[in-house]
Amino acid sequence: MIVNLEKLKQGRNEFQVEYGEKELDLTKVDFTLLGKVRAHLLFFKSRTNVKLSIELTYRLRMTCSRCLEEFERDFNEKSTYYLKQGQEEYREEKHLTDEDIFTLYYAVEEIDVTPLVREMVILSVPMKPLCREDCKGLCPVCGANLNYENCGHTQEKVDPRLLKLKELKDLLGKS
Ligand SMILES: [Zn+2]
Ligand SMILES: [Zn+2]
Repeated sequence: MIVNLEKLKQGRNEFQVEYGEKELDLTKVDFTLLGKVRAHLLFFKSRTNVKLSIELTYRLRMTCSRCLEEFERDFNEKSTYYLKQGQEEYREEKHLTDEDIFTLYYAVEEIDVTPLVREMVILSVPMKPLCREDCKGLCPVCGANLNYENCGHTQEKVDPRLLKLKELKDLLGKS
């Protein structure tokens, strides 16, 4: 979606937009967009400065980095951009409170929101997605999914403090 900043009225300008997988160019990524990304765009114009708040809701299917099972999760992402007229078109990133604040300088009077939405979606996906916090992963010996079965190959979980003690015992046992 391309918005002409010159044409926005002073104050609030709101839009509801939906983006599909193809529009956002999310076909060659390692997650799947389920349905559409619903975007709420709020442009707040004050003279020539524009504050753009984007709120997105969407659902993704990802692959767990430990057990390799697919799982789905809902996302709700918010970002704020300050649009200032200028020569350069670059981005300055600042982290304030819990929202990501960006300042975009626009050389032209129009802004394409689609790449911003795409970036927000991509950045929301964890580097190592987990189906759940305590996913047990796959057995390194037989590949069994340890969330569902106990193949008997894995050692019992050892408390790191006990491990130290065990190392010490082994050491003493050797001497
Ligand atoms: Zn998992
Ligand atoms: Zn096993």
